[in-house]
Amino acid sequence: MKREETEVLIVGLGPVGAALGVYLGRMGVSAIAIERDAEVYPLPRAAHLDHETMRLLHLAGGAEAVARASQPLSSYEFRNAAGELLLGFKPTGDLAPTGWPYSSMFHQPTLEHALRARLAEMSTVSTRLCHALKTYEVAGEGIVAQVESGDGVYEIAARFIVGCDGGNSTVRRKAGIALDDMGFDEPWLVVDTVLKNGVTRLSTIGFQHCDPARPVTSMPMAPGRHRFEIMLRPGEKPEDVVSDEAISAMIAPYADASALDIERRAVYRFHAVIAKTWRAGPVILAGDAAHQMPPFLGQGLCSGTRDAANLAFKIEAVLRGRTKDCLLDSYQAEREPHVRMITEMAVAMGRVVCTQDAEAARQRDEQMLAAPEASRMSPLLSLDGIRSGILESGGAIAPDPGFDGGRLDDAAGYAALLIVRAEDDASRAFAGAGGFVARLDALPDRAGHLAAAFGDRPAILIRPDRYVFGAGEAAALTGAWAAYLATGKVPVPAAAA
Ligand SMILES: Cc1cc2nc3c(=O)[nH]c(=O)nc-3n(C[C@H](O)[C@H](O)[C@H](O)COP(=O)(O)OP(=O)(O)OC[C@H]3O[C@@H](n4cnc5c(N)ncnc54)[C@H](O)[C@@H]3O)c2cc1C
Repeated sequence: MKREETEVLIVGLGPVGAALGVYLGRMGVSAIAIERDAEVYPLPRAAHLDHETMRLLHLAGGAEAVARASQPLSSYEFRNAAGELLLGFKPTGDLAPTGWPYSSMFHQPTLEHALRARLAEMSTVSTRLCHALKTYEVAGEGIVAQVESGDGVYEIAARFIVGCDGGNSTVRRKAGIALDDMGFDEPWLVVDTVLKNGVTRLSTIGFQHCDPARPVTSMPMAPGRHRFEIMLRPGEKPEDVVSDEAISAMIAPYADASALDIERRAVYRFHAVIAKTWRAGPVILAGDAAHQMPPFLGQGLCSGTRDAANLAFKIEAVLRGRTKDCLLDSYQAEREPHVRMITEMAVAMGRVVCTQDAEAARQRDEQMLAAPEASRMSPLLSLDGIRSGILESGGAIAPDPGFDGGRLDDAAGYAALLIVRAEDDASRAFAGAGGFVARLDALPDRAGHLAAAFGDRPAILIRPDRYVFGAGEAAALTGAWAAYLATGKVPVPAAAA
């Protein structure tokens, strides 16, 4: 059988596999990215991206296309059957410190086409549509995979296989990795619509109608599109709800069905699962293959993008012999608590929305409405940073202060950044080793976000995934970063050891 060799085999070219491929390609890693289907996934999925993810997708070549065809969310409101506010979030109209809107409402295929176009420019990555992973074996330090294409089955030998192959992941199942089920499993019909007559929006408010008689989500997407999600009632089957007539009747309280075209519809079970192991030797999982969450926070794709950004620089460091596999042990250690925290929030929100028992809904309303209305509406939904893989002074998402008329991210690319008040031997050595170094006073930082992150410290080191690694003396930061890359562990300061 024909056999090819590569450094990384990426299985699945959804948004996570495509972003990972671009990050690896930017670092010159050789990879083969295989995708079973010819086209991007045709059914309705992500509608929301947060500002952190837009930034990571910008580094992967996907954010501009989204920005051109998206709109911000003016608020996200959970209201009961009577229309009273149970819970809400209202982002400011300003850009986030990352330089992107807090929320971008979009159309997932737009992103996937843009990422694939960027991936096609990567000279070290070979992209193969209509090539499906059949199986693989671990062989020595790597794997040998069997891949089926129109020309038959062939083998790919790789140092790493990364399963970005979605919720039903072949890579995960073949590795025998079990899922931790977080106890949420609810059936919903998801309907994407296109507004007629050039209408760009029905509403800029994301609305969860927590009506026990029929929970419904109404959500703006890209201009000209609107999403409805409709919970199935107990005993209802998919075939009872998917017809045009049934959909028109169910969305009647929210929109005139004659003013829109139903573009696509699907019945999903919204569930919450996290793989128990995200890496087994050369086998790694990312995105939906590693975790799936209900969409009430709009964070599944965002989380998968964070996985790709966390992983790519570590894979490259191992492949280039700068470190051992132990650096990859930090991948799940850093990502899983973050994903778990978000999944728990999404499940908690889902439990508010998915209440179908009238008495339980009455009690929910009584409890939630007891709090003053002002405290039920938060200014914006901000996520915690990471808790390991950072120094004590790190963990938050770094601001992008701008650079040379553009974004600092454009200049730095997908790499670690050191920003200093004044250059010194440590910063020169960091630059000499290929790191990106900028002086604080050369950066516009118009809103002062970076200055605030600095405080009175002399330097900040930012990881390739844009979390602040730490703030302090440049020599201490670069030393700790080198130690982290070598071992996957952040050295404990002498005083605390
Ligand atoms: C209704 C709904 C709403 C959502 N809303 C949001 C939202 O607002 N915001 C958000 O961030 N997320 C949202 N999500 C989640 C988001 O869509 C997913 O998290 C995201 O698509 C996962 O990307 P992925 O690349 O990991 O997997 P996928 O997009 O599933 O891609 C996996 C790819 O692998 C391919 N593949 C599978 N098996 C093989 C094989 N054996 N060989 C080769 N290729 C293979 C598949 O064909 C597919 O292209 C939503 C999901 C749903 C269902």
